[in-house]
Amino acid sequence: MHKILIIEDESNIRELISYNLINNNYKVLEAEDGLQGLEMSIREKPDLILLDLMLPGMNGMDLCKELRDRGSKIPIIILTAKNEDIDKVMGLEFGADDYMTKPFSVHELIARIKAVLRRAEQKIEVMHISKGDLTINIERHEVMLNGKEVELSLKEFDLLKTLAENKGMVMTRDKLLDKVWGIDYDGENRTVDVHIRYLRRKLGDEEAEGKYIQTIRGMGYKMP
Ligand code: CA
Repeated sequence: MHKILIIEDESNIRELISYNLINNNYKVLEAEDGLQGLEMSIREKPDLILLDLMLPGMNGMDLCKELRDRGSKIPIIILTAKNEDIDKVMGLEFGADDYMTKPFSVHELIARIKAVLRRAEQKIEVMHISKGDLTINIERHEVMLNGKEVELSLKEFDLLKTLAENKGMVMTRDKLLDKVWGIDYDGENRTVDVHIRYLRRKLGDEEAEGKYIQTIRGMGYKMP
């Protein structure tokens, strides 16, 4: 169930949206001013934010920018009565995903929410790694190297996915064991090394200073 945060100071609009979203099987959170909205965005990590621009406390534009500056990629749909704000808020600096001008139909709003959520999920499910020659499609459980599919075992796939999701960070063997094999797994760190070796062979990436997987001595592995 998707969680949607409505940040809107006009209670009648907020309640109308909330009522309709709940009827459409969304989980709804509500904030009535900008600061509360920011705080809830960070704490609750909603799947999508509906953001009014004219808000007490902190206006919608500043809130949007603050979230993006913090690296948040939560999709945001702007709700506004003023057309002139749209270009700015949809621009790179603020990075909203869509907008609705008031008054809007709730039916249309729900259609937009579905579209934005779908787009956001596609972005997460398909990751393009390393200049496009290695692609991991998480939804289809498929790894392509130079346009050719690489057959990986489940663990190899999860291992590669975990390294890719943490690109640039060193993953210790313990961490990889936890993430790929599960916390209850009682295996040895060597298990990780063995699977990394298989994975590297399949990716044609067998050196320690690999293109896709690097060995960080005494620590673990990372995808550069
Ligand atoms: Ca308002």
